[in-house]
Amino acid sequence: MKLKDRFIRFMYGRYGVDSFGKFTIWGSLILMLIAGMVTIRGILSWLAWAGIIYSYFRMFSKILQTAAEKSKYLPDDTGIRTFFYRQRNMITQRKTHHIYKCPSCKQKIRVPKGKGKIEIRCPKCNTRFIKRS
Ligand SMILES: [Zn+2]
Repeated sequence: MKLKDRFIRFMYGRYGVDSFGKFTIWGSLILMLIAGMVTIRGILSWLAWAGIIYSYFRMFSKILQTAAEKSKYLPDDTGIRTFFYRQRNMITQRKTHHIYKCPSCKQKIRVPKGKGKIEIRCPKCNTRFIKRS
């Protein structure tokens, strides 16, 4: 086993996965500081950047994973479906029914078509009015 792998395993065992993530961020920052001090901005700063990018990638992948898990329990498109169902219902009802408004309370009343002159009683305020259906 390589020394690096052994070190990583040691860190995992000691601090857990999340602490290890924090450790990589801090380690990278320290590496960047050292790189700045030494002024040899070569491999060391590249390593630091790689470490930071890796840490952020890890964080984001974790966030995305939890978001994906949460979305499983979110309600599906039932709201949209009922909306379209209602719209379709309205269209089919237009063919067989007339929709009148009560003259006193503006309540919408559905009346079947083709019945001639009929007296409509408002279910809300009991107003009677005559319409041709
Ligand atoms: Zn009414």
